[in-house]
Amino acid sequence: MERDEALSLLKTDNQSNEFYKLISLSNQQSRKQFGDKGLVFAQIGMNAEPCSKNCRFCSMGSSHYSVEERWQKGTDEIIPEVQQLLSEGMNDFFLMTTADYPIKKFIEISTEVRKHLPGQVRFVANIGDFDLETAKEFKAIGITGAYHIKRFREGIDTLINPEIREKTIENIINAGLELYYCIEPVGPEHSYDEILDLIYFAKQFPIDAMAVMRRIAVPGTPMFSRGQINAMELTKIVAVTNLIIKPTRSMNVHEPTQMSLLAGVNQLYAEVGANPRDTSSDTKDGRGFTPTMAWQMLAEAGYFPETN
Ligand code: SF4
Repeated sequence: MERDEALSLLKTDNQSNEFYKLISLSNQQSRKQFGDKGLVFAQIGMNAEPCSKNCRFCSMGSSHYSVEERWQKGTDEIIPEVQQLLSEGMNDFFLMTTADYPIKKFIEISTEVRKHLPGQVRFVANIGDFDLETAKEFKAIGITGAYHIKRFREGIDTLINPEIREKTIENIINAGLELYYCIEPVGPEHSYDEILDLIYFAKQFPIDAMAVMRRIAVPGTPMFSRGQINAMELTKIVAVTNLIIKPTRSMNVHEPTQMSLLAGVNQLYAEVGANPRDTSSDTKDGRGFTPTMAWQMLAEAGYFPETN
C-alpha cells in the first residue's frame, strides 16, 4: 500500500461507512491468513523497580515511580506462575524486565525457566537494549525471540537514543531470533504521519507477530494528562497496520479491546507481575488479563486455540 493511500485510510471518519469498510478489509485479510486460529501470549514482568530510562508514560520511570511496591521475582515465584499460565493455555511466553536489570541474571533465570516450558512454547525476551553476543547467547539457551521496538518519540519521551533501539533490533534479527513488533504507545498527540513513520519503519523487518498498543493514562506519570485515544481510533490504527504489515502469524491489539477483534485481531496478551501501564505491582490483580480472559475474548470473535 502506498503511503498516501495509508494516510487517507487513517483519516477515515470513525462514524462513516468507510470506517466499517476498512475494518472489514482488515478482517478479511486476517481470516484468510489466520483462519479461526487464535493465539494467547503471556508475559511475566519479573521486577518492579525504578528504571533510569524514565519513559514519561511508564509507571516505573525513576523520576515518577508510581507502582505500589518494589521487588524482583526469582525462579521460585516465576515457575509456579509459568505453570499456572500453561494450565490456562498460552502459545508464547514473555519474560519482561526494566532496562536496568542485569543481563547475566536474566540469562540465569531464563535458562531455568526454559526447562519448564514445553518445546512448542516460544520463549521471548522483553528487556532493555543488548548487543549481538547477548542475542546469540539468548538463542543458545532456548530463547526464540525478542520484543523490541522503536517507540513514539523515542529519545524525547524516553531517555533512550532511537539509534540504540534500532541497533538492538538489528542484533535480534542477525542472531536469528524472531522479532515481535508493535506500534506503541499511541497517544492522542501523535499525528497520522508519525504513526505511518513507525509502521513503515516496521515494514522493513520480517514480522510474524504484529501489534498496536495505545498508551494508557497511568496516574502519577508525566503523560497522564494527555489522556488516551478511544477504542474506535485504536481499532482503525490496528486495521491500517494490519493491512500494511501483513503479519504471517498473528495480529494483536493491546490492551485487549473486544471491538478491535472486528478488525482481524487474533492474538491477545495475558499479563502477570510488573507492568509499565499499571500501578498495581501485580498486574494480574490490576489491569492485566489472565489467559482464560483472553481466550474468552477471542472466542467471542470466533477465534479458537489450534487443536492437534
Ligand atoms: S518503559 Fe521500560 S525502559 Fe521505559 S521506564 Fe519503563 S521499564 Fe524503563
